[in-house]
Amino acid sequence: MARALVLNATYEPLCVVSARRAVVLVLGDKADVLHATGDEMHSEHLSVPIPSVIRLRYFVKVPFARRAALNRRAVFARDGARCQYCTAPAESIDHVVPRSRGGEHSWENVVAACRPCNARKRDRLLSETTMVLRRHPSVPRELTWVTVAVGAVPNHWTPYLQPALSA
Ligand SMILES: [Zn+2]
Repeated sequence: MARALVLNATYEPLCVVSARRAVVLVLGDKADVLHATGDEMHSEHLSVPIPSVIRLRYFVKVPFARRAALNRRAVFARDGARCQYCTAPAESIDHVVPRSRGGEHSWENVVAACRPCNARKRDRLLSETTMVLRRHPSVPRELTWVTVAVGAVPNHWTPYLQPALSA
């Protein structure tokens, strides 16, 4: 199913919705199409261009600090789906300081990991192993939610995401 990027009236990226939901917003005069895929969606009575980027006609207030939800999918998005110990494709998430040793379930203590590394580390602290983290885990950039929502960000979305990425 095609997805559409929704921008606030201020052009700030807001969320990602299904193309069908985007069509509903456009047909309801709630949003304007900024970019269309070139394909059309057909219903009983009409065919409409499938929107890929839309801008709301009204302003939506966004909570000041939008923190990305901490889950496996979001951690994989932040870490590029690579094991943070050996760069192999990640298959699980690892608590750097094991939970059994008081480690928190937080962005700063969770990394993507492959099964062999996860199994090798067990419930040990890094200092008790020879394993090294490639990158220190941190709270992801605000726009990770876009990546999480679509997997890969379509090229033509990039210009719309730039202001937020540089903010
Ligand atoms: Zn690994």
